Amino acid sequence: MRKILPVLLFVFVFSPLAFSAPGAVRCGKLLDVRSGQMLADQTVVFDASGTITSVGSSSSAKLPNRVAAIDLSNATCLPGLIDVHTHLTSDPTGSGYSSLGISVPREAITGVKNARLTVRAGFTTVRNVGASGYTDIALRDGIDAGEVEGPRMRVSGPPLGITGGHCDNNLLPSEFHYKAEGVADGPWAARAKVRETVKYGADLIKVCASGGVLSKGDQPGTAQYTLEELQAIAEEAHKLGRKVAAHAHGTQSIKDAIRAGIDSIEHSSLIDDEGIALAKQHGTYLVFDIYNDDFILQEGAKAGMLPESIEKEKKIGRLQRENFRHAYQSGAKMAFGTDAGVYPHGDNARQFAKMVEWGMKPIEAIQAATVNAADLLGWADKVGALETGRYADLIAVRGDPASDVRVLEAVKFVMKGGTVVRNDLAAK
Ligand SMILES: [Zn+2]
Repeated sequence: MRKILPVLLFVFVFSPLAFSAPGAVRCGKLLDVRSGQMLADQTVVFDASGTITSVGSSSSAKLPNRVAAIDLSNATCLPGLIDVHTHLTSDPTGSGYSSLGISVPREAITGVKNARLTVRAGFTTVRNVGASGYTDIALRDGIDAGEVEGPRMRVSGPPLGITGGHCDNNLLPSEFHYKAEGVADGPWAARAKVRETVKYGADLIKVCASGGVLSKGDQPGTAQYTLEELQAIAEEAHKLGRKVAAHAHGTQSIKDAIRAGIDSIEHSSLIDDEGIALAKQHGTYLVFDIYNDDFILQEGAKAGMLPESIEKEKKIGRLQRENFRHAYQSGAKMAFGTDAGVYPHGDNARQFAKMVEWGMKPIEAIQAATVNAADLLGWADKVGALETGRYADLIAVRGDPASDVRVLEAVKFVMKGGTVVRNDLAAK
């Protein structure tokens, strides 16, 4: 008993899970992200596990015993947002050669800081697509255990890539014998790498199909993995119950990845009409990170990004935005992903205004970050909508995000699984 008591005390005092209780939130307005309808005076009720048990008009809401609803009658509620392309364990200040001085433990600590910034910005779920040393898995597990404040995470572990490709590291000369942990050449080596990544806890696989912007000595438009390798990766991952996200800027790599059965194309910068048609045919999600171009061009040099990276971004940034508009107008499936980590975490919502500037209606940009993103994650029954049976992940803003999407840049209230993360709306 003497041994057990301190353990019990620790669990009850320090674990936020121990405080879970049924509750309710009363929303002045509630945006139904599926229909786009704005509903007046709605109450969301959730149980002790943080799961929504009812959503409906406040006048008919049945509150559990001794529960008083949190009053958000002066605000608009919507589901917690989802960013499907983040790097929580990276900061832009660690770009280029300065990245070589960052240890794996240091990266993990950076992740703790950024997880907090991200959830407080209203992003209650992220898909993290690339981290060193399985720091993303440690971060996910720390958050799930209630030890670290942060969003729900789906994580990839180290990204798979070819020798010398975007997801290797070409900053050091040969005598250092450096090779990134996700490097695998050839279909069988790539399959083995998928197995290894899953072994250490990855929820999905990230693969670098083409060259990239922030890597040294390659070109974004150039194919890296072959179709045969991408097919091996997709087949192996799917067999193990994991989805695959492919970094692909280049026209050919985008098509190869879609034909290989990969689930989402990240960046999608140089997609052509055939690529868009293939994405529609296969139901592949396109993820266009169209905000960070502004940051790379304005702040990238100061952050240590290589001059060649800035030149690559100049060539590709505008084309990516034009292709985003074209893919959107062509009816391709889109999910909201920002590449946060390339620019500062917590600014994720700045991409909404870019998506609207380049053709989307505000509600469509919001759907990309809620129902669509949840579908891509394989979590359509858990997140992305304020509906019975889903997590009580709820945010609130002042104003109407369906007419002015920029209000999402200043989220005032965040709840994750029925636990309040921040509340700037409480009466002062
Ligand atoms: Zn990325």
